[in-house]
Amino acid sequence: MTILLNADLHCHSVVSDGTLSPEALAARAKANGVELWALTDHDEIGGQHRAMAAAREQGMAYLTGVEISVTFAGTTVHIVGLGFDPDDTRLADGLLATRGGRGERAREMADQLAQVGIRGAYEGALKFVGNPALISRTHFARFLVETGVCRDTSEVFRRFLTEGKPGYVPHRWAALGDAVRWITEAGGMAVIAHPARYKFSANEEYALFSEFKAHGGRGVEVVTGSHSAAEYVTYGAMAQEFELAASRGSDFHSPDESHTDVGTLPLLPGQLTPIWELLDDRILRPAH
Ligand code: AMP
Ligand code: MN
Ligand code: MN
Ligand code: MN
Repeated sequence: MTILLNADLHCHSVVSDGTLSPEALAARAKANGVELWALTDHDEIGGQHRAMAAAREQGMAYLTGVEISVTFAGTTVHIVGLGFDPDDTRLADGLLATRGGRGERAREMADQLAQVGIRGAYEGALKFVGNPALISRTHFARFLVETGVCRDTSEVFRRFLTEGKPGYVPHRWAALGDAVRWITEAGGMAVIAHPARYKFSANEEYALFSEFKAHGGRGVEVVTGSHSAAEYVTYGAMAQEFELAASRGSDFHSPDESHTDVGTLPLLPGQLTPIWELLDDRILRPAH
């Protein structure tokens, strides 16, 4: 598979914090010209068999996917896994443990919001939850928009739910080495998601990339909905420096919220190795 491929290897369905079903997302990806797709719900692979079937139905090639929440240097970092066996029990157990504590965290978030006069946030957020095991900040954000507290989700994350703001509850996610190991032992490859989002110092970022590599990580997202054009260049160079393959994904969540639609990003810069080249034997291709 060539670098000139409309691959979208990062997006979310109702199985985590997206608003579309895996089937609707597959149809949207196909309509937008996606040639290779991966559904990467947060900490959850419960949608993989539906996504695989939907991709087949659409005549679209598919890689299994997940986005694992990790705590690294006191910061939440996301690691995407691609091309693993969706029935691997060690990966499933690791994700189950990573999801644990979300319910309790959500109740604490609601308590904090109540202290600034916003009542009923837990119940309000729950109305938006597609998967009870996966209540996330995004669902609280939708509640705060629905009730008119904020105009849109980006205002929510400026005023609430982030460090130093009401509704922020720090949480301990998976360890970097564990997340990379679960993905790798399930036959897949680990990819650092949207590295520019972490706002790390140069030293912290170097530590993330080198420890990720040492644990067996294979790729980094270069072209993502979370990066500017300048950051495509920065992280393309980082991919080369650390001999990591490059990935591409919109991080699409919802037609009403996401500014980057599935399958609409620029192609990967030509000098990089696309992660799908390394995963060629893991790609599920539709029968012709
Ligand atoms: P959680 O896993 O519960 O901490 O929720 C994290 C999710 O919140 C991310 O996957 C995004 O979907 C969403 N999110 C975090 N920060 C922002 C932001 N600044 N703007 C929009 N969505 C955000
Ligand atoms: Mn999300
Ligand atoms: Mn992410
Ligand atoms: Mn994501």
